[in-house]
Amino acid sequence: MNWKKLLTYRWILLGLGLVSLVGLTGMNVYSLYALHENTISSSFEKQKTQINDLANESRYRLTSPLRDRFNLNMPNLQEAVLSDSELPENFYTLVSKAYEDSIFTEVYFSDAECKACDGDGPIQKYNPETKKMEWVSEVPDAVKDGIGMSRTRMRVLISEYQFNTRVFFDTHRSLTIAMVNTHTQEVVGYLLVLIDEDYLINQHLSPLITSTFPPTNKSGITVWLHDWTKNEVLATNDPEVPYQRRIEDINQSFPEMLNNWNIKAAFAQSPMVAASQASLYRNLFVLAIAVILLIGALVFMFFTAQKERELAVRQAGFLANVTHELKTPLAVMQAAGENLADGRVKNEERLRTYGKHIYDESMRLRRMIEKLLDVAKSDAGQTMTKPVLADLNQLTEKFVNENESFIKDQGFELSFAPSSEPAMVMIDQDNYETILGNLIENALKYSFKDKSIDISIAKKGKNVHVDVEDHGAGIPRESQKFIFDKFYRVEDANTAKTKGHGLGLSIVKDLVSNNGGEIKVKSTYRKGSTFSLHFPVFFESENGATAHTKHVANEVENVI
Ligand code: ADP
Repeated sequence: MNWKKLLTYRWILLGLGLVSLVGLTGMNVYSLYALHENTISSSFEKQKTQINDLANESRYRLTSPLRDRFNLNMPNLQEAVLSDSELPENFYTLVSKAYEDSIFTEVYFSDAECKACDGDGPIQKYNPETKKMEWVSEVPDAVKDGIGMSRTRMRVLISEYQFNTRVFFDTHRSLTIAMVNTHTQEVVGYLLVLIDEDYLINQHLSPLITSTFPPTNKSGITVWLHDWTKNEVLATNDPEVPYQRRIEDINQSFPEMLNNWNIKAAFAQSPMVAASQASLYRNLFVLAIAVILLIGALVFMFFTAQKERELAVRQAGFLANVTHELKTPLAVMQAAGENLADGRVKNEERLRTYGKHIYDESMRLRRMIEKLLDVAKSDAGQTMTKPVLADLNQLTEKFVNENESFIKDQGFELSFAPSSEPAMVMIDQDNYETILGNLIENALKYSFKDKSIDISIAKKGKNVHVDVEDHGAGIPRESQKFIFDKFYRVEDANTAKTKGHGLGLSIVKDLVSNNGGEIKVKSTYRKGSTFSLHFPVFFESENGATAHTKHVANEVENVI
């Protein structure tokens, strides 16, 4: 498959991979949130139902002691009421049960007309001692109002009413049962019980609220029994939380009774919701890390594959190049050798020229082979570094002296500025020469008009800086980060003019780092480049131990 197609497929696959990752993550985040929302709403729904049940249960608590009303024989009762004779047995069963329940205080009974309600006659009241209904002339207002209200309502309802009793609640805390003879569609009478409000609040509703809803920090809800006419809290599951209208989330009225009371509630964060939230955040966090890792891995794999491919291409180019480069000097040497062997060349001048050709080409060959070996050694981790304590000023000066004439022969100016104080570092001298040699070789190769090279040394902080500056071709900004890679060559007209394999700087970088230093480049395209070597200054610490990089220091001991 050709390289361009492969690259396109790779980009497409990377895109698809990233899109599916984003899609999967989106879905996951959405479902995590949905789960959390569900947990919250189901927790709220459950509590709302509990509050509703609480109101219904109170109705049941008030009407359950009066369950026997369904057993009454209304025609019999009506007859007894109308003839003013003894009320039937099952009527008394109902009345005594109601009286014995602590939630009711007194029990009254009136005929359908209820003159007492209009202040015009006595009414029957249950006497627990005689266990009989007895006529009393003092009629409390609550009784008059309760029966009076039921009487008015029944006047409207009676013509179509199907059941034998009807229960009415009055805000004055009375409960009235209208008794109906369904055969004649007539009201037989009214049984009224007065409700003990204290008992209802303190012995029934309050315990019911606290047993259903533990305090706010456990249940996540505060519940109040609230009298809205007096704006007064009658009972609560958490006295620590004061009732405020603005924090109220639920307002539940009691069904058809106690209608000046409401149950109010406010949601706080319940432990269940808090746990769900914590788990949501935990999951999101893990998801984010996993996604970052996955994206990182995907992108990393993509780019390393890309790099490997580029390296392979460069290596292939290098092989073709190097074969050519090796063949050229060999061919020159072969031709010169042949001519000499033939004995055809006799002229001394020509003999010398042939000899020089052979010598130069063999040197070129040698340099190339040495470079290749250096790279191979460094790749195999076999580069030997033997650092010794040395003054970089002296080493550089020696290098300059040895190479000055060669450099000048090429039409270059060379300047050297040592540092004012000794620049002591631990360094392998051969390595240092190779490093400088490569940098100078590049400066020579890549300078065309302004042919000058400046070498300078300076101590900066804990480092010695050796700068090799030229005023040549310069390196385009986008290529600068690649020039230390093996086989990399800037692709432009200048480089095309020069011979090279992209190995020099990679060798330099390896050698510099083997000696505990680092190399930096500053370059402006078409203006020139400065390669700067930084080596840590060698200094003796107080106890005499060296304070240099550990591996270098160890080797020093062996060498010195
Ligand atoms: P090469 O054998 O190609 O010179 P190097 O590894 O020494 O290999 O350099 C890598 C590339 O960096 C070169 O091909 C060249 O484009 C660029 N380069 C290195 N030194 C210089 C310099 N002093 N001036 C301009 N370009 C340079």
